[in-house]
Amino acid sequence: MSLFFCPQCEKETEMLSIQDAANAADVTPRTIHNWKRSGKLHVLETPGRRKLVCKPSMVRQCSNTFDQR
Ligand SMILES: [Zn+2]
Repeated sequence: MSLFFCPQCEKETEMLSIQDAANAADVTPRTIHNWKRSGKLHVLETPGRRKLVCKPSMVRQCSNTFDQR
């Protein structure tokens, strides 16, 4: 687990890779990008150009499917 500061949550949150987020929500990475574009997800780009998805925003978006442990 990694914690990063999410400007949209205004606090440090758990972050998932795009692939991990897609797996956890049982959707494709393309869907993750669509959700990001429509403002439903918080996605950070790290200095290493990795994209990370804010887990709390994921949980809100897909509370039905997302494993909230
Ligand atoms: Zn966030």
